[in-house]
Amino acid sequence: MQHFPVFLDMASARVVIGGGGEIALAKLRLLLKTDAQITLCAPDFTPEIEAHSPRVTLVRRPLLGCDLQGARLVYAATGDAAADARIAALGRKAGALVNVVDNLDASDFLTPAIVDRAPVVIAIGTEGAAPVLARKIKAHLEEVLPASLGLLARIGKGFRAMAEQLPQGVRRRAFWAEYYDHAGPRALDQGGVPQVEQALDDLLARHLTAQAPDGHVDFVSAGPGDPELLTLKARKLIDRADVVIHDRLVSPEILELARREAVMIAVGKQGFGPSTPQAEIHRLMIEHAAKGAHVVRLKGGDASVFGRLDEETGALDGAGIRWQVIPGVTSASSAAASIGQSLTRRGRNQSLRLVTAHDMQGYADQDWRALAAPGAITAVYMGKRAARFVQGRLLMHGASPDTPVTLVENASRADQQIVPTTLAQLPQQAAQLAGPAIILLGLAPKSAEQANEIQEQAL
Ligand code: SAH
Repeated sequence: MQHFPVFLDMASARVVIGGGGEIALAKLRLLLKTDAQITLCAPDFTPEIEAHSPRVTLVRRPLLGCDLQGARLVYAATGDAAADARIAALGRKAGALVNVVDNLDASDFLTPAIVDRAPVVIAIGTEGAAPVLARKIKAHLEEVLPASLGLLARIGKGFRAMAEQLPQGVRRRAFWAEYYDHAGPRALDQGGVPQVEQALDDLLARHLTAQAPDGHVDFVSAGPGDPELLTLKARKLIDRADVVIHDRLVSPEILELARREAVMIAVGKQGFGPSTPQAEIHRLMIEHAAKGAHVVRLKGGDASVFGRLDEETGALDGAGIRWQVIPGVTSASSAAASIGQSLTRRGRNQSLRLVTAHDMQGYADQDWRALAAPGAITAVYMGKRAARFVQGRLLMHGASPDTPVTLVENASRADQQIVPTTLAQLPQQAAQLAGPAIILLGLAPKSAEQANEIQEQAL
């Protein structure tokens, strides 16, 4: 992030715009939403700018250094590069922050795209990389945020001191969530502002007498990495969580979805690397849920696949804490999708195995004969270091060295890598990978398979 977003207090701040045409007018329109003291300097002004006098001060000559006394922001908006550069230099000399319109490199700050539901204001920036995208996001937000949001927030702001009777944290948040989600909009529809004020009083009375909410734990499947592979339920629960206890494999983009106030705790294992003791994970979940928090235990892939789910739900049962499981996309599904393959196929494999190559005692034993059978499909989790062991067992049980194998590293992530190989080459190829990987035994990427079939038909 090269540009850091801040909300500047513009009440009686001085802003000077150099320019009097359409470019200056566009900035003026935005600034008129604030209480800033605005001055424009230019030989001529468009009629629309003229119409804003005397709310804005118009100086009918090119901008001079003396116009900038006490200015906090300066916009160079003449549309002429040389004139803009002169204004920018004067602005900096006067100690103001300078924006040269449409010139990122020459600017100290950028004006974001703005969705205005004052006091709720959303600023969208792309660091100049994709203004079109910023406009698209703005259009989307304009659509989904009700116009009444600003009004509800203004009324809510006036009620903040009253709401402080509720203890800070979970209970006060539950009060505001109910106001913004249901009670506020409903009251506004039914009877306007007076009804909203009444609704706030009623709601507060109800929340003051209510019992403290009981905490619980949601085991949420985070999927293989791409945030778009989260279920809608997972998204909603992450969004509401007070505490997120997450595996190290969960991608940063997904952790970003949590509220900024949410307590984020990283636990879990890293390959054969450092790990949080399981008992510590149990202790953390119980401690937070017992305090009334909504805890999300966020697990990579699907929570029920090699995730020690039963140990964790067992610990919660022991402590009398409620829980539920939200299913998700396991990395084997994601890996199969990325090579265009089906995990089962009529006439090829009637069953599919999800196996782990090592367990707590070391290498995991399997029904190797079944895994080695022609047409068998197996997804090996945690298999990189055990690749040679897996290869040895399969060959010993009669698998062909030519059996297709595909390694998918960082499935669904931007740095996903697909490595098609054979059982003979498996250990060498697995040793090349640094990130989490799934080994698909018996599967080649669809495109390679098709090419082979065409070749065979030709022979
Ligand atoms: N519950 C998880 C599996 C946890 S075990 C799931 O359903 O996917 C950890 C193993 O999962 C890793 O060693 C790796 O084999 C696999 N894995 C997790 N995320 C992955 C990803 N994005 N790409 C490939 N493999 C992944």
